[in-house]
Amino acid sequence: MYLANEQRYCSMIYKSCGNSGLKLPVVSLGLWHNFGNTNTLENMTQMITTAFDCGITHFDLANNYGPNRGAAEVNFGKIINNQLYPYRDECIISTKAGYVMWPGPYGNWGSRKYLIASLDQSLSRLGLDYVDIFYHHRPDPSTPLEETMSALDHVVRSGKALYIGLSNYQPEQLKKACDILNSLGTPAIIHQTKYSMMEQQIKNGLIQVHREKKIGSIAFSPLAQGILTDKYLNGIPENSRAADQNSNFLTQKNITDAVIEKVHKLNHIAQNRNQTIAQLALSWAVKTGELTSLLVGASTPSQIINNVNMLSHLDFTDDELAEIDAILN
Ligand code: NDP
Repeated sequence: MYLANEQRYCSMIYKSCGNSGLKLPVVSLGLWHNFGNTNTLENMTQMITTAFDCGITHFDLANNYGPNRGAAEVNFGKIINNQLYPYRDECIISTKAGYVMWPGPYGNWGSRKYLIASLDQSLSRLGLDYVDIFYHHRPDPSTPLEETMSALDHVVRSGKALYIGLSNYQPEQLKKACDILNSLGTPAIIHQTKYSMMEQQIKNGLIQVHREKKIGSIAFSPLAQGILTDKYLNGIPENSRAADQNSNFLTQKNITDAVIEKVHKLNHIAQNRNQTIAQLALSWAVKTGELTSLLVGASTPSQIINNVNMLSHLDFTDDELAEIDAILN
């Protein structure tokens, strides 16, 4: 039987999610990769329990995470209903709908029909009565924003989700969506967006909207899918996402000499700070992105421990920040 580490709340930092009463750990665990049918339940269980032992209370899923679609929810459902069952009320479990999930016109985007059916399916795969956060995964250009937001309001009122989140919205869309949700009485508490040293688009207006609308923000792929680690410093290892034939989101083509040259320079700064590159990249993201939390992925428990240890060095000197900017720009 799994017994959680009694010290799990001692070193993690928890930040309020925007204007809401919900606090999230600065490091959250994402289950996009490595929780599908190609991985062992044993490794997945060890990753989840290791994360929980480190104070990571937030686990991020989506209907389509796999392979195959839905598999991450099924696998996580087994773990939350076995090892983590006594700790359900200490966990924040999020899922999403917005990308293609099943064939036909009702299995994608943002209609009321799709979102409500998808959440019902997610709850059934997870074996849960409710999720803590339900996200619209990406904006839908052809469904009225009012319809999508009223479906999100409905799932909260029906008790299937406690809070609402939005993901991949652009600044103006996000403002409008927040206004509609506020008028319905179910505010969005969080926005999920890509942010790392390698991709800094949130600085083009999103940070201001998060601030103005008082919503939390959580960055996905803060390690640029593994590029911002020591993983690719000396080539592309077999056990890496870039070498994985099932993953077409990070491929060998992304690991260019120019990119790796930057990572070597970042490594030099990290070493001077007694950090790993991953720890440098994560602490930099927290410092510069005005974020509530970072959504980090992992393939092993030790990566999770390494990443959480970034908490011991979050400060940067102005010189360090300038040096990093010079490398990145
Ligand atoms: P990261 O940028 O954190 O990349 C994770 C990968 O980096 C791991 O799988 C591992 O690669 C490598 N890694 C992590 N830690 C270390 C370490 N300490 N040392 C060496 N390598 C390490 O995030 P993801 O791209 O995985 O995204 C995180 C989460 O964000 C997702 O799981 C999902 O929940 C969410 N997300 C949301 C999206 C949205 O549209 N809303 C889109 C994408 C992600 P390897 O497997 O090669 O070992």
